[in-house]
Amino acid sequence: MRVAVFSAKAYDREILESLGATRGHELVFIEESLNARTAVLAAGFPAVCVFVNDQLDATTLRAIAAGGTRFIALRCTGYNGVDLKTAAELGIRAARVAAYSPFSVAEFAVGLVLALNRKIHRAYNRTRDGNFSLEGLMGFDLRGRTVGIIGTGKIGLIFAQIMHGFGCQLLGYDHRINPQFTALGAAQYVELPELFENADIISLHCPLTPETRHLINADTIDQMKRGVMLINTSRGGLIDTEAVIDALKGKIIGALGLDVYEQEADLFFEDLSNEIIQDDVFERLVTFPNVIVTGHQAFFTEDALRDIAETTLDNLDDFEQGRPCPNEITQPLVSA
Ligand code: NAD
Repeated sequence: MRVAVFSAKAYDREILESLGATRGHELVFIEESLNARTAVLAAGFPAVCVFVNDQLDATTLRAIAAGGTRFIALRCTGYNGVDLKTAAELGIRAARVAAYSPFSVAEFAVGLVLALNRKIHRAYNRTRDGNFSLEGLMGFDLRGRTVGIIGTGKIGLIFAQIMHGFGCQLLGYDHRINPQFTALGAAQYVELPELFENADIISLHCPLTPETRHLINADTIDQMKRGVMLINTSRGGLIDTEAVIDALKGKIIGALGLDVYEQEADLFFEDLSNEIIQDDVFERLVTFPNVIVTGHQAFFTEDALRDIAETTLDNLDDFEQGRPCPNEITQPLVSA
């Protein structure tokens, strides 16, 4: 089957080509992301393959449907970028990669906790500059600290297991009880206000839904411990960034680690080092010494990329051969 692979980077091409050659698909790699402007590039392709920041809104979907596209293969887990209602009306099916190495994201979230706590990002710059002063680099032992985990699914659970290994107390919040979380021992489910009130570190691992959009806002920040560390490796829209900037200025939030950002579609996955970045909120964010922002790289391990490519090709095979696809997205993103 001919597949237009949008937002294609060299690493996508390398792994998909090596695996795809054996499956008989003709993969055409397109560097541009898929949106209303670029939808014309999908004309004549029965399937498109897209990534996290491709915008499959109603306008884009109508355009690709008119060009003959009937299947969307997402190379990611989250599908908040797809207007599923319109897709269904147009007879376009979509499938995602429901699961791939959850260790990739969980381990990265732990990396942000460690770097922020012990100021490794600042120490790295200091020693390169011949500055061996320890002023301002003091951290705290993780052992005995309370970690709040919002979303205890695949990634949240592994994050919990690793933090448990450090000797942390764990507070979880989820609509769905995960028995593997409570089985950890020093872990219990609580309501959100209790989690906000008691956590020294809060890590977000729930999907972006209408209900979770701006879950972290001025009101919920007000409930948090002064100096709390906040980690978001899930989706940028979970956080009201301007409220978080106010809380950093007011020293309510003591450290912030972001791998995702609400307006990331205009920035991430591109080299903009020779450009003037126009997003003032983002630019303010990266001026804080106690903030680390990375460009949506938590998934980026060789293990995860291999899992993603294999499942994506399985999904394309299922569609082409008219088989039921276990990864087909049938429900809009609503909370459980
Ligand atoms: P998952 O489905 O296994 O777990 C998500 C959990 O969130 C579930 O237990 C679900 O019940 C819970 N949840 C749903 N609505 C909730 C709510 N309102 N409040 C609290 N919990 C709620 O998903 P996962 O594989 O663990 O992935 C979690 C998220 O991580 C994804 O939604 C995706 O946005 C993000 N992600 C980011 C990257 C990255 O590279 N940064 C990569 C993969 C996934």
